[in-house]
Amino acid sequence: MKKLCIVVPCYNEEEALAYTNTELTGIIRRLTEKGKLKKGSFILYVDDGSSDHTWELIQEYRKECPCVFGLKLARNTGHQNALTAGLLEAVDYADMIISIDADLQDDSSVIEDMIDKFEQGYDIVYGVRNRRDTDTFFKKFTALGFYKLMQAMKIDIIYNHADYRLMSKRAVEQFSGYTERNLFLRGIIPLIGYRSAIVKYDRKSRVAGESKYSLSKMVSMAFEGITSFSIQPIRMITGLGLVIVVCSILAAIYALYSFITGKVVAGWTSTILSIWFIGGVQLLSVGLIGTYIGKIYIEVKHRPRYNIEINNLMEIPHEES
Ligand code: UDP
Ligand code: MG
Repeated sequence: MKKLCIVVPCYNEEEALAYTNTELTGIIRRLTEKGKLKKGSFILYVDDGSSDHTWELIQEYRKECPCVFGLKLARNTGHQNALTAGLLEAVDYADMIISIDADLQDDSSVIEDMIDKFEQGYDIVYGVRNRRDTDTFFKKFTALGFYKLMQAMKIDIIYNHADYRLMSKRAVEQFSGYTERNLFLRGIIPLIGYRSAIVKYDRKSRVAGESKYSLSKMVSMAFEGITSFSIQPIRMITGLGLVIVVCSILAAIYALYSFITGKVVAGWTSTILSIWFIGGVQLLSVGLIGTYIGKIYIEVKHRPRYNIEINNLMEIPHEES
C-alpha cells in the first residue's frame, strides 16, 4: 500500500474545477477506504498563472479537505512546465504520482487500474485513449497528423497517450535528471526506460470550459517535440544537398552534350552548371554544419546517460567505519 499524489495542472479552469475536485477527492477517499492507498494520499493542483478564480477555488477546496494542496506558479508557463513543477515538488511526499488534466477528459476511473499495475511492479503506466469519438473532427485530424509526424521524425512516443500517466517515485526522480528547458514530456518519459504498462480508456469531452490548446499552441507543441528530440530535419537537408549534387552532375553532362552539339545560346552552359552545382554544394554544406550543431545541441542537454534499473551493489552491506 503506497501513498499517491494526483498532480493536476490548471490554467483558467474555474468552470471545470468543482466537478474535478469532487471526483478526485472521492477517488482518493474510496481507494484509501478500500485499502489500496496509504493514508495521506493527496491531490496537488498546480495553478499555471491563471487569470480567473482558479487559485481561490483551490484554496477553498483545501479548507474543505486536508487531502487537497495547491501550488501556484508565478506566471503562465504552459502545460508541460506546470506538470513538471507538480511532479518535482510532489516527489518527496509520495510513492507514486498520477498526472491528469483538470478537465477530466481522461477517465479518472482507471486510476485504480493504474495503481494495480504499479503494485505489480510497473514504474510507468501510460493512460492510452481507446477512441476519440467525443473529439471534434479538427482535434482528431490534428492529433493523428501529430503522431504520424513524430513517427516520421523517429521520435518514440506512445500512440494516443497524452499526459495522463502514473509514475513511481524513482521514475520521477530519474526524470528530474533530464534538465532540458525545451520540455516535451511524452518524448522524455519513454527515454527513462523503466518497466512500463498501458491502461486503456475512452476519452470524454471536457466537463466544462474550453480547450486551452489553440491551434497555434498545438503547432508549437509539435514543433517543440520535433526540434527537441530529433535532428532528422538536418539530416533531410544533408540528404537533399546530396541529391542536388548528383543532379548537378547529370545536368552537367546534359549541358556539355548540348554545348558540343552546338544547340545552345552562348553563356547558357556556364550559367546552368553554376546554378546546379553551387546550389547542391551550399545545401550539402548547410547540412554538414547543421550536423555539428545537432551534436552540440544533444550535448548541451546534459541528459543522463543511463538510468539504472537494478543495482546489485546496493546489496553490499555498508561497513561501519
Ligand atoms: N494547461 C496549463 N497551462 C496552459 C494550458 C493548459 O496548465 O498554458 C492545463 C489545462 O488547465 C488542462 C491541461 O493543461 O488541465 C490540458 O489543457 P486542455 O484540456 O485545454 O488541452 P486539450 O485537452 O484540449 O488538449
Ligand atoms: Mg483537455
